[in-house]
Amino acid sequence: MQEFFDAGERIGVLTTQPLDRVLDYRAPEGGCFLGAFVEVPLGPRKVLGVVWGPGAGDFDASKLRAVLRVLDAPPMREEMRVFLEKAGAYTLTPMAAMLRLATRAPGLGDPPSMRKVYRLGEGEAPRMTDARRRVLEAAAEMGGLSLTLKELAEAAGVTSSVVKGLVKSGAIREEESPRDTPFPRLDPEYGGKDLTDDQAGAAAVLSEGVRSGRYGTTLLKGVTGSGKTEVYLEAVAECLRAGRQALVLLPEIALSGEFLQRLEARFGARPAEWHSGVTMTERRRVWRMIGEGRAQVVVGARSALFLPFQNLGLIVVDEEHDTSYKQEEGVLYNARDMAVLRASILGAQVVLASATPSLESWVNADLGKYKRLVLTSRFGPAVMPEMKPIDMRSQELASNRWISPRLATAVKQRMERKEQALLFINRRGYAPVTLCRACGMQIGCDHCDARMVEHRFLKRLVCHQCGESKPMPEVCPSCEVEGKLAAVGPGVERLAEEAQELFPDARIAVLSSDLYGTARELKAHIESIAMGGADIIIGTQLVAKGHNFPLLTLVGVIDSDLGLQGSDLRAAERTFQLMRQVAGRAGRAEKPGQALLQTYQPEHPVIRGILAGDEEAFWRAEADERRIGGMPPFGRLAAIILSGTEPQELFDIGNWLARNDGPLRRVDAQVYGPAPAPIARVRGRHRVRMLVRGPKEVMLQNALTDWTRPVKLKGETRIAIDIDPQSF
Ligand code: ADP
Ligand code: ZN
Repeated sequence: MQEFFDAGERIGVLTTQPLDRVLDYRAPEGGCFLGAFVEVPLGPRKVLGVVWGPGAGDFDASKLRAVLRVLDAPPMREEMRVFLEKAGAYTLTPMAAMLRLATRAPGLGDPPSMRKVYRLGEGEAPRMTDARRRVLEAAAEMGGLSLTLKELAEAAGVTSSVVKGLVKSGAIREEESPRDTPFPRLDPEYGGKDLTDDQAGAAAVLSEGVRSGRYGTTLLKGVTGSGKTEVYLEAVAECLRAGRQALVLLPEIALSGEFLQRLEARFGARPAEWHSGVTMTERRRVWRMIGEGRAQVVVGARSALFLPFQNLGLIVVDEEHDTSYKQEEGVLYNARDMAVLRASILGAQVVLASATPSLESWVNADLGKYKRLVLTSRFGPAVMPEMKPIDMRSQELASNRWISPRLATAVKQRMERKEQALLFINRRGYAPVTLCRACGMQIGCDHCDARMVEHRFLKRLVCHQCGESKPMPEVCPSCEVEGKLAAVGPGVERLAEEAQELFPDARIAVLSSDLYGTARELKAHIESIAMGGADIIIGTQLVAKGHNFPLLTLVGVIDSDLGLQGSDLRAAERTFQLMRQVAGRAGRAEKPGQALLQTYQPEHPVIRGILAGDEEAFWRAEADERRIGGMPPFGRLAAIILSGTEPQELFDIGNWLARNDGPLRRVDAQVYGPAPAPIARVRGRHRVRMLVRGPKEVMLQNALTDWTRPVKLKGETRIAIDIDPQSF
């Protein structure tokens, strides 16, 4: 492939505008590289694009419009272009939308902005004072390194006017320097720990993979606290030694300061961060430094996968089973699968780490597509908590009470021992249902097929589907009788109320994502709880995600059966993962932990599997069921979501598709539906779903495109294709 285009040559440019084809332009004055980021005219506008290849049209090149300017950024590498194309083809996403994922850099291509920095100069201080001497000493200590005015003044413990006074005489030098400073070098030999034999063995396998310079994926499984992080950090270290970049992906919520400090302790400096909490200025710097190879390690959320790494050697996907890796809006991609795709193009290694891997990854390891490493014991004296059921059929409970006497006794014991207890319920808000005792009506959302959930802290009813909220009414919206609205069922807030009544002296902390304005506040709160700032933690699934609570020795699961209801085939897998993750919070330090599961169905296979801790048996049973049903990962699945304002129209389209399934039958795929989607109405839009299932051997994408192409969409009607849907 031609790598450079001379001025005036015909080139193809992919833009971020939804045209979905590469447009022809003339290369600008001075020419441009393949992959260059450019600004091109499109109608009356200027738009961002990337030089994608030689032009394809036969239009007279001299009549084409010329590229306006080449942006100041390293050209997109071939590997990235191939990745975007393959990922777009797999998820059936238009290329413009794929390119937008890869260009989320504020001020992309702007010249680097400058700032003033200060360091030791040649001149003499005019008159030496104590303050001036401190500034010169602080500057000398920095060697040749420059500081900002504020940094230098702070380091010397003086006001900035003292520093400025020294600039005049030349004792301190003032210079302009680009704001986008490189990241400090990370040192692979800095803070390594002595690994146990198990850990060292696993680390050696991962490091060897990194050294090979070839593609490979490894599933790293081990209970919480077994040292998975320690082990994959060794692979990161090996990557640094090999001079390649590494990316560690975490679910957004697990991106805590604690984790970054841990990396700093291991490598002697902080890595780059990429997630929704990073400021625009910092994002700009990170994007640029990664592109120039001057950021070696990035810790980020799923969108970090689209950063312009120059030399990526390793991608770690921590908590790989986490459902938040699947983006559910816009481009429907699963970051875990895309990590594997990008690495396979690059010749890089992937580590999928989890205490409770997804069934897909587990099966892929069984099939030999992934390597599997298992850490069997917790590091140090901590052991996996003892798990016991509380059979709720045998417990006396008043109405509107959910903490059984047995669980209450266990909590009291922990309080006496100054240990922490966690009560887990996977329901936000106060009560899931608000019912009118006069007419029997349940308050629902006006825009969705969902019940409104009472949030007592907010004094509002909230729809968890669309976020719509309204003040808690005094009279029933249906029969208008006053004072008859009743809360039904428990939510995390209501459970906190019950716990406070049962344990009046306890300091109770509620951990639920909707109680905190910002992720930062939430993280600060979690850190203070971990330090002992509460006796009882009441939490939703937020607590399952990777935080350490060293004083926690008891986990009580209020409603273990909750996830087992409903039609979702993944429910069993999710419940199993969630229960094990939550139970794994207990007893990380020297104190052994216990998990008590309140259940009305102690003989349910999932509950039995959790209690027995017999994961192999659980996975085999689940895998068998999926194999028999031809479900992923043994078959291929896609969901078609039709959405619009008129349900009848959606069903008409769905029925037409169901009758005209020729393209699907040619690849041996079957179609199910149309049926109302699991959430049939969201934000006022109706949703109808169809599922397509096909054999593993054939890709469904072309058939899906051929099948849906004839559909003419009117007005507000939309069709979306979700490859590998999360729920089925
Ligand atoms: P996981 O990622 O499997 O939950 P971690 O890597 O976070 O486990 O390890 C749990 C805790 O044990 C951490 O505080 C970690 O620093 C510590 N730890 C694990 N392995 C070692 C080791 N070999 N030496 C010292 N501390 C260790
Ligand atoms: Zn709603």
